[in-house]
Amino acid sequence: MNVCIVGAGPAGSMAALEFAKGGARVSLFDPSHPREKPCGGGLTGKALALLPVGPDNDPLPARRVQTCRFDTARGLMIDLDLGEPVGIVARSEFDAWLLRRAVDAGARHVNDRITKVEQGGRVKTLGGLAETFDLVVGADGANSLVRRSFLSATPKERRWMACGWYARGDSDMVVRFLEGVDGYLWLFPRAGHVGVGIGAPLGHPPTRDLLALLEREVARSFPALARDEDTPYYAHTIPSPGEDGSTLREMAGEKWALVGDAAALADPITGEGIFYALKSGRLLAEAVMGGGSPQHYAERAMEEFGRDLMRAARLYKRFFAPGFTDRMLDYADRSPALSRVLVDLVLGKQDYMSLKKRLVFTLPRFGWDLATAPVRKAFARINA
Ligand SMILES: Cc1cc2nc3c(=O)[nH]c(=O)nc-3n(C[C@H](O)[C@H](O)[C@H](O)COP(=O)(O)OP(=O)(O)OC[C@H]3O[C@@H](n4cnc5c(N)ncnc54)[C@H](O)[C@@H]3O)c2cc1C
Repeated sequence: MNVCIVGAGPAGSMAALEFAKGGARVSLFDPSHPREKPCGGGLTGKALALLPVGPDNDPLPARRVQTCRFDTARGLMIDLDLGEPVGIVARSEFDAWLLRRAVDAGARHVNDRITKVEQGGRVKTLGGLAETFDLVVGADGANSLVRRSFLSATPKERRWMACGWYARGDSDMVVRFLEGVDGYLWLFPRAGHVGVGIGAPLGHPPTRDLLALLEREVARSFPALARDEDTPYYAHTIPSPGEDGSTLREMAGEKWALVGDAAALADPITGEGIFYALKSGRLLAEAVMGGGSPQHYAERAMEEFGRDLMRAARLYKRFFAPGFTDRMLDYADRSPALSRVLVDLVLGKQDYMSLKKRLVFTLPRFGWDLATAPVRKAFARINA
């Protein structure tokens, strides 16, 4: 089988690695490396678990962080021990590392841009190549050419704008919920610098207002990480599926399929996309190399994570409703049982489908925690 993969981000390199391992002839087109991709670079446990093991002389270039501070503009603050580390990567290093794993597995990296994709698996490149493949995989990100060749672009209402800058220095990992913004601010410490960013639904507020808000918050609370005049901004959208799942059902057709951001596979609440990029790349290769069609991949993706993303899209408004994040942090601060649920959500161990059930089971313990919270706080003060 002759497979063309357009884009060597996490989705494309993972697909290339798995197709090559399965015995396919893989051409992975991407002229952008080495490059930084605007991203927080946060890798949850479930994303880390999907990654291949690199050789001893080429370990995963990730910083491991085990605590995360959550706070709100109203001053609520909670430091959560995540129990197991999350990884934080610079995408220039991480994407290059994963691309090396795909090449090690036998994929051919072609340093060229795809300019045209036609029905029947035919592609053309900027460098003048024209070739027909058995399968064309669109792993070309949020503004995917492959997507636009077969479908329309992901609509504006299903995109977040995420923007910020990379600041010299160091910091704790911080997530801050802000009043009037259906999103959050983050500080993600990497090796040698900190990813400073903010994300919210595209246009709400407009990007320049979002950046101004980020500048104000960072100057107020984290002045050492404030942007200086020489530091450029980054900005990029994150597409995600809506409540009706229509984008999930249209991820593949005859001789083509979409993975990662091209398929609009990110969590609509957290913006986590790297896990879905890796997972969809692997799922596609497994489905097709196992004898299934690209449509079979779309069905499996719906089962494995599609319904959960649709549930997240349904919960989105409630999560960012006024006062919800304040109440959530307040209760998590007073209840170890609830903070465990929050940690599992952050780590990707708690899905949205079974969240309600888990919260119902947690209720008796939660009540006990609230009643005994003053005693626990008093002991903590004595021990401090
Ligand atoms: C600011 C920001 C912060 C984020 N933070 C996080 C986070 O902390 N954790 C997380 O899990 N997710 C995060 N995300 C989401 C995450 O970045 C994406 O979901 C993820 O990069 C998707 O991977 P991908 O491989 O599908 O696409 P991409 O990473 O966008 O890769 C697409 C590749 O395709 C190439 N390409 C495009 N067009 C062509 C073409 N015509 N021919 C050849 N190549 C082409 C591009 O050069 C690029 O290399 C964040 C996103 C943003 C914008």
